[in-house]
Amino acid sequence: MLFKRFLSSVTRTDVQHFTKILSPPSVLSTLQNAPSAELDIYNNDWMGKYKGSSTTVLKPKTTQQVSEIVKWCNERRIGIVPQGGNTGLVGGSVPVNDEVVISLQNMNSVRSFDPVSGILVADAGCVLQALTDHIASHDHIMPLDLGAKGSCQIGGNVSTNAGGLRLLRYGSLHGSVLGIEAVLPDGTILDQLSTLRKDNTGYDLKQLFIGAEGTLGIVTAVSILTPPAPEASNNVILALPHFNNVLPLYMEVKRQLSEILSAFEYMDRTAYDLAVKHGQGRALADDEIEGAECFVLVETSGGKREHDEEKLETLLSTLLSASNPLITTGVMAQSPAQFSSMWALREGITEAVSKEGKAYKYDISIPLSKFKECVDATREQLRSKGLLGDGDGMVKAVIGYGHVGDGNLHLNVIATRYTQEIQDALEPFVYEFTASHRGSISAEHGIGLMKTHALQYSKSDVSITWMKKIKALFDPNGIMNPGKVLE
Ligand SMILES: Cc1cc2nc3c(=O)[nH]c(=O)nc-3n(C[C@H](O)[C@H](O)[C@H](O)COP(=O)(O)OP(=O)(O)OC[C@H]3O[C@@H](n4cnc5c(N)ncnc54)[C@H](O)[C@@H]3O)c2cc1C
Repeated sequence: MLFKRFLSSVTRTDVQHFTKILSPPSVLSTLQNAPSAELDIYNNDWMGKYKGSSTTVLKPKTTQQVSEIVKWCNERRIGIVPQGGNTGLVGGSVPVNDEVVISLQNMNSVRSFDPVSGILVADAGCVLQALTDHIASHDHIMPLDLGAKGSCQIGGNVSTNAGGLRLLRYGSLHGSVLGIEAVLPDGTILDQLSTLRKDNTGYDLKQLFIGAEGTLGIVTAVSILTPPAPEASNNVILALPHFNNVLPLYMEVKRQLSEILSAFEYMDRTAYDLAVKHGQGRALADDEIEGAECFVLVETSGGKREHDEEKLETLLSTLLSASNPLITTGVMAQSPAQFSSMWALREGITEAVSKEGKAYKYDISIPLSKFKECVDATREQLRSKGLLGDGDGMVKAVIGYGHVGDGNLHLNVIATRYTQEIQDALEPFVYEFTASHRGSISAEHGIGLMKTHALQYSKSDVSITWMKKIKALFDPNGIMNPGKVLE
């Protein structure tokens, strides 16, 4: 890798210095005889696709410690990879070479929660599920929810500008994050941990860190606006005979459910079958879904259970009794357990994909009408190259699912193993398809290492030039997550 020429490797002297900043158990280094297997979880990404060779993992407990480590690394030109829960899907959270990993896992305290305003201030290493549980006792929910909530951290969520299942209702983190505290690449602490809803005092620097994927600094704390927990939530799974019905259905669901609609999630038949095969959530009865080409999960969140249920029941009966029904069947959750297992079906797809094989993951924004065309065209592309089939090094399945309400399709190609041939068949094919529809090559997962070479499909030369200028201004030595986002 080109950037490696400008960066230093960690030495024993560096490790001795880190051990002065941190207590010994917070320094894990093969240079101090730690078995390299102990570093595997930090060197390998969630998909098993990207692998680094870091010798040293540091686990600071305070912002001051992060600052001292970063200052030293900057002076020594040592590359740094900030790591949260390591659930990222674009290879951003693991080293490319032997950069030092700074894991935020020990910075996991809630700093404050105000039940009146709903503003939560937490260390960056707090796991999303732990924050969800913490504020549940105050009848609040996090404005974001994703399948990786048991492992991903709020600092990682902010750094990837994670979308997830609630974006339709509560908007993006660019709106709900009110402030951040970050350590800049020279070790300076940037305290922008505001709890103000309104603050128009010049440039809003925190926005730069939302989605920066650790390339501008290390987020050490986050202030975030959390909504009150809805009094009532419900969901329904709808089976559709054709993809063409998804858009009319979305319009009808929005019209009938209006303010209580909180999610509208799509999965094609292959994605559904895969989730069921790998035991994710509750399957619908086989005879009910015969001939269904795809499924939609609709969630409502509102203030009064009877009112919301009546709306959902009316929706279902009008959909089923129409002369040319958009759906073949619809199943409404009858209990909290059913509600969770219906969500598990949709949320569990990522997990099911990883159990099925090695996944090439494309997370794109394209017009809703193009979702199926994109999946079909990708399948055709692989077929034309002779890469679809059962054998070793072949593609087993191509699936599409995602957040219809946000125009975000997850296109996953599942193979028996990663091969250059499959990669070449998919890229730039998928990116060209996306660009031809003025879409985005990354709707919510980020660029990481996976898509640096493809940034120009979604960003103009002028935008990329200014991104590079910003990076150079913050991080002139290029130590912060080298090789990620920008080539
Ligand atoms: C089962 C599953 C379901 C998922 N569902 C969704 C989904 O619905 N929507 C979605 O958007 N994503 C989803 N993801 C992807 C992933 O969970 C998100 O990108 C998440 O926000 C990453 O958080 P993390 O703490 O694991 O970060 P990591 O994976 O550790 O890091 C991700 C990036 O952020 C940087 N980073 C991490 N912490 C910090 C920090 N404190 N300061 C600076 N940089 C930092 C890393 O360097 C890296 O570039 C899913 C992943 C899985 C495995």
